This record gives sequence, structure tokens and C-alpha cells, in this order.
Amino acid sequence: MKQTVAVICGGRSGEHEVSLASAQSIVNALDRSRFNVLPIGIDREGAWWMGPAVIDNLRKGQKPYGQRVYFLPDPTCPGLVEESTSGRQLVSVDIFFPVLHGPNGEDGTIQGLFETANVPYVGCGVLASACGMDKAIMKALFAQSDLPQLPYLVVLRGRWETAPEQVLDDVENRLGYPCFVKPANMGSSVGITKANNRAELVGAFDDAVRYDRKLVVEKGINVREIEVSVLGNDEVAASLPGEIVPAHEFYDYDAKYANAASRLLIPAPLEATVTSCFQEMAIRAFRAVDGSGLSRVDFLVDKDNGEIYINEINTLPGFTSISMYPKLWAATGIAYEQLLTRLVDLALARHREKQ
Ligand code: ADP
Ligand code: MG
Ligand code: MG
Repeated sequence: MKQTVAVICGGRSGEHEVSLASAQSIVNALDRSRFNVLPIGIDREGAWWMGPAVIDNLRKGQKPYGQRVYFLPDPTCPGLVEESTSGRQLVSVDIFFPVLHGPNGEDGTIQGLFETANVPYVGCGVLASACGMDKAIMKALFAQSDLPQLPYLVVLRGRWETAPEQVLDDVENRLGYPCFVKPANMGSSVGITKANNRAELVGAFDDAVRYDRKLVVEKGINVREIEVSVLGNDEVAASLPGEIVPAHEFYDYDAKYANAASRLLIPAPLEATVTSCFQEMAIRAFRAVDGSGLSRVDFLVDKDNGEIYINEINTLPGFTSISMYPKLWAATGIAYEQLLTRLVDLALARHREKQ
């Protein structure tokens, strides 16, 4: 019997569009000999819609996007539910595949909903998702696992608003310029600014506090950016590393999605010993947050002296067929379609182990 995979995409985060692009690729590539595919779109208001054209309709802003559905963690009717004239009906789903980036999708919240309903879902669980989304918590866990990081400070919005001079002095004394100001809970470089002097630092804080009540400020260096894909539950595999050559001064939102001039080098030109060092660190980072399923682990390498620092873990990385995560697996020997099947199987295995 075929299993039904509900691919959930869109969502209320700033990465709505990116999510739709990833989901479209996944919907197209899931193995139809084994799976029925059910696209589920979440609109910008947070409402859930089901139907074959839902991704297209969300992209075009064409309402109704599909048929309205609800997710209920109710013991008599757990999971996806549609309302019809004959009453409430359960939509049969075997596995949920959240393809949501950023807050409300990558941060453990929707994973909590799946847990409450006791349904299998692809990717990291509540804890890993939440820890991976929050750069301050993530860094604390990385430090615990002896992963090298650039010096950083955590600053709360309240402190910036009440004692800005103190905060500026702290950053200058402990990190210096350039430095990067980042909202703790974001992705796709949204709200991130590089500051080269005090005036720019003020602007960077004023911008970042619009996105989050917690910020991370980090010493800035000239970098090479290396990324490794991780796949597995308790047994974890790491892909060959890839390198990003950004089109802009740093890998900002535009360089990531709008500007095709950013290049991916797959595999990254690295010596074999360095490659295995990245792979070992990527697995250690995945374990540090208690990951399962998949993650992409990103590193910064100091161009001046070759020092390696871990930058972040992304528990739901970009997943279009040209995104780094699947391309690294393709280069390592797992094709896109196969990768999706592996992820579904990992989700089912984890679910079985919990029962
Ligand atoms: P996001 O989760 O939004 O991707 P990142 O922490 O990865 O946030 O930062 C986005 C980009 O900013 C990185 O890919 C890199 O180009 C640049 N960047 C971030 N931190 C530093 C740093 N400390 N030094 C140099 N470049 C950095
Ligand atoms: Mg990120
Ligand atoms: Mg990043």
C-alpha cells in the first residue's frame, strides 16, 4: 500500500517564499511508486489549505488556495481534519513532511504539534529544532561540545533600549570591528548587518531589534564559507563539504536567493584531512543539539590563517533541487529522490522507537 506524505509549506515566517520553492521541488520528486503526495500550504495568516494546486495558488496569491483543513491534536481525531457537510473527517496521512523555514516551522513549534498528535514527521524534533533556531542557545551548546566559535555577545533588546552606550562599549571592548549583529531567532540573513564602526553598530542594533528581543553580536572576519549536510538519527552520516562564494560582501538575503552570481563549489576544494575534520565537527554539532533526520552545518574559515569556526546548524535547510543540502548528498552518492525516501524512512523509524 502506498503511504501518504503531507508536504507542509509556506507559513507565517519571513521565509514563506523560500519554503514554497523547497516544497515544490520535494512534491515533484517524491517517489510516486511508494508515496501519495498531499501538498498542504499555510498562508501568511497561518491558515492551512490542502490541494494539488495549493503551492501555485499561494505563490500567485490566488484565494481560495485549496480546501481549508485543520490540524487537531485530538485523541479521537489526531492529525489533519477537513470539515464537510457530513461533519468532521480525518484526512489520512502517514507521514508529515514540514518544509518550513524560520520561526513557526523550523523552531520546534510545529514539531510540538506533531508530537502532541503522536504522528510521524520528517526532520529534527522539538528540542533540536528549538535549539537550532536560537543562535544564543545553539552557541552555548556548541561551546559545551568544544566546537570552536568566534567570540560573541548576547544582548537583550531591553538592555539595548535602556543602556545603549554600555552595550556599544561592551561590543567595542570585547569584539571590536567589524562585527555582525544578528537577531537570535531568524534565518536567511534576515536582520543581519555587518558593522564597521560605532555609527553602523547603532544602525545594526536598531534594525535587528525589529526582528527579535534577543540578539547575538559576533566578531567579524574575512571568511570562506563551508557547509556540510548531515543525515541520520542515532547513526549519523556527513556529506562531502561544499563551499559558497557569495556574490556580495557577505552571504545576505539577496545573495542567497535573488542574485544568481553566488556560486556553490561542490565539493569544496579542501585537503582530505580537512574534509574529515569538517565532517566530524558537523556530526558533533548535530549531536550537540540532539538532532535527528537532517541538518546542514555551516562553518566559517578565516581566510587569513585557515582557522575553522562553526557558524550554525540549520535543521530545515533550503531544499530546492539546486540547494546546498541535497546537492551535497548528490555529490556524496545519494540522489535527490533517494534522499527524500531516506528522510521519510528515518521519520518512521524514530516514530516507531518512541512507541
Ligand atoms: P543565518 O542564520 O541568517 O544564515 P548566519 O549567522 O549564517 O545567519 O549569517 C549570515 C551570513 O553572514 C553568513 O553566511 C556569512 O556570510 C555572514 N557572517 C555571519 N557571521 C559572520 C562572521 N562572524 N564573520 C564573517 N561573516 C559572517
Ligand atoms: Mg541559519
Ligand atoms: Mg547561515
